[in-house]
Amino acid sequence: MKRAIYPGSFDPLTLGHMDIIERSASIVDELVIGVLNNSAKNSLFSIEERVSMIKEMTAQIPNVTVASFRGLLVDYMKEINATIIIRGLRAVTDFEYELQIAQTNHVESPNVETIFLTTSLQYSYLSSTIVKEFASYGGDISKFVPKQLMDRIYTKYNITK
Ligand code: ADP
Repeated sequence: MKRAIYPGSFDPLTLGHMDIIERSASIVDELVIGVLNNSAKNSLFSIEERVSMIKEMTAQIPNVTVASFRGLLVDYMKEINATIIIRGLRAVTDFEYELQIAQTNHVESPNVETIFLTTSLQYSYLSSTIVKEFASYGGDISKFVPKQLMDRIYTKYNITK
């Protein structure tokens, strides 16, 4: 049984993330979406809010579960018996950083492999940061995030649509 983890901040979940989730869930047996609980990072949504939004949006995918974790990813993977890390690659700018992390994780835990999925073309420019920037000025984020999450994002900026 191949259990994979898709780790990230997901602050908030975007359609780019959803695309990676759907595609990777179809190639592994079990996919755990691991929301990084990093107290040093200033986040828009609390860890509980992020976990519950992702749960809601992935409820229809039977082999996906959602959890939060702290500390080193490879330590958490041992805890939950996962051996595959899923990451999305958008542009070359993602590449150098992702390569470093993947190699470090592999040295640290030789049984851990990282699988990179290239972004679907229509989401190649999309990031949680762009969504927040757009939403904060009242921009239309309907092409960037699941429709069900739009109001929750605007509310964070006191914007009613
Ligand atoms: P992190 O803080 O780890 O970068 P993110 O939530 O920003 O967390 O991203 C989590 C993962 O999703 C990363 O592997 C990132 O490259 C990938 N990702 C983010 N946006 C997209 C997108 N539009 N298309 C494909 N992959 C994406």
